[in-house]
Amino acid sequence: MWTGCYTARVKILNPADGSVIRDVVEDGDAAIAKKYSRAHAAQPEWAATPLATRLATIRRFKEEVTRRGEDLAKTLTREMGKPIRQSKNELDALRERLDFFLLKTRSALAPETVLGGGKLAERITHEPLGVVANISAWNYPYFVGSNVFVPALLAGNTVLYKPSEHATLTGLAIGEMMQKAGVPRDVFQVIAGAGAAGGALVSQPVDGVFFTGSYATGAKIAAACAPRMVKCQLELGGKDPVYVCDDVAVPKAAESLADGAMYNAGQSCCAVERIYVHERIHDRFIDAFVATVNSYKVGDPMEESTYLGPLARALQIEVLEGQIRDAVEKGAKLVLGGKRIERAGNWFEASVLTGVNHEMQLMREESFGPVIGIQKVANDEEAVELMNDTEYGLTAGVYTPDEARAKEILARVRSGSAYWNCCDGVSPRLPWSGIGHSGVGLTLSTYGIQAFTRPRAWHLRKA
Ligand code: NAD
Repeated sequence: MWTGCYTARVKILNPADGSVIRDVVEDGDAAIAKKYSRAHAAQPEWAATPLATRLATIRRFKEEVTRRGEDLAKTLTREMGKPIRQSKNELDALRERLDFFLLKTRSALAPETVLGGGKLAERITHEPLGVVANISAWNYPYFVGSNVFVPALLAGNTVLYKPSEHATLTGLAIGEMMQKAGVPRDVFQVIAGAGAAGGALVSQPVDGVFFTGSYATGAKIAAACAPRMVKCQLELGGKDPVYVCDDVAVPKAAESLADGAMYNAGQSCCAVERIYVHERIHDRFIDAFVATVNSYKVGDPMEESTYLGPLARALQIEVLEGQIRDAVEKGAKLVLGGKRIERAGNWFEASVLTGVNHEMQLMREESFGPVIGIQKVANDEEAVELMNDTEYGLTAGVYTPDEARAKEILARVRSGSAYWNCCDGVSPRLPWSGIGHSGVGLTLSTYGIQAFTRPRAWHLRKA
């Protein structure tokens, strides 16, 4: 007999071969509302728990991550396609992030006396927001998740964490490890599901929404939050440019930038998405870049030696095909790759296009795949103009041995992060933020700890 209960399930697919790994019960509206109520009820007690206790739970969470490292890496690779070596790198760097939060939270959240000594004192305290909704992307689930849920928990918030549907098993593992570490069940809860679950979470009366994902979804979330005046922080996509000056050591720069464009199959928010090369070295740079990409091993992401695996999402293949078709029709030259690899799963060739320009989608829209356009420029002026010709502003880089030249160029480029002779990197010690369609707000650094608090003003006058 039909009971009236309907339970949707999220199917977890292996992008390397299209097989179903397993399916997971999706949280529906009623389940999400219930999780919210429990998070809301649990928050005052968690906020009143001494910071030392909250820090101790995150220390134990780190121990769990270390203990389960091999399995966690395999799960991530299986459900998202990231080559196993790169999954392990992500987990190693997660531990570094956790160390940063463990070291810096106490001083970042300490009350400040900004005026004292007389009859009037002025103080600032950092109060938790309350219940935080953390909606996350799949490409680096340990990074983009922990940037939010770790400082949010340490600051005394309860967290409803919705991992991407393409990293559900990783999200559930994070939930298990939090519980094992001693975080109370209602203080950190995982919500399984896709966009509908994210929408249902945002519609709860949460006190802060912290989103990592695409501009298109971010714009919807910002619109949903606006009438409620709820804090909404958005870490979105990019079309990150790099300029290679004429005075570089070409092979070294090409090697570094090929890695910046192709690591994680180009599925990094700060992946190199556009390269501008000074005309004096352009041809040599292309040769060295293509040689480096050709040296990458493509194949089974479970093998340690694999550098390029499948794409996490099948649909992205059509986006890449469309961008390449558009560029070639408008005169670009395909010097490497250019098409899907015909086998089960979501495979696409590492692709390099030259003779590109800003009339082409490839140089304007996020590719989020192993595809790069390289454009020749006459001088620094032209490079700066093209780098700024974008709706995004996540990162930008310059390669040159001349520090003054690099600083002068980067000072004129609009981006949240600036790189000199490096790319595609995030440091826990520095703020991570974007301009324009790359988002609002920030994570990481001590500012990214305070982001999960409401600074409260105290005016204290002695009678
Ligand atoms: P996405 O926007 O498709 O999904 C992100 C999350 O939002 C997922 O959990 C998804 O289930 C959820 N979602 C989808 N529709 C929703 C809705 N209507 N309401 C609420 N939630 C909804 O993005 P993605 O494919 O997971 O991630 C790729 C994008 O994320 C790229 O654009 C990438 O550049 C960006 N990204 C940015 C950063 C950063 O730090 N700036 C980091 C990683 C990824």
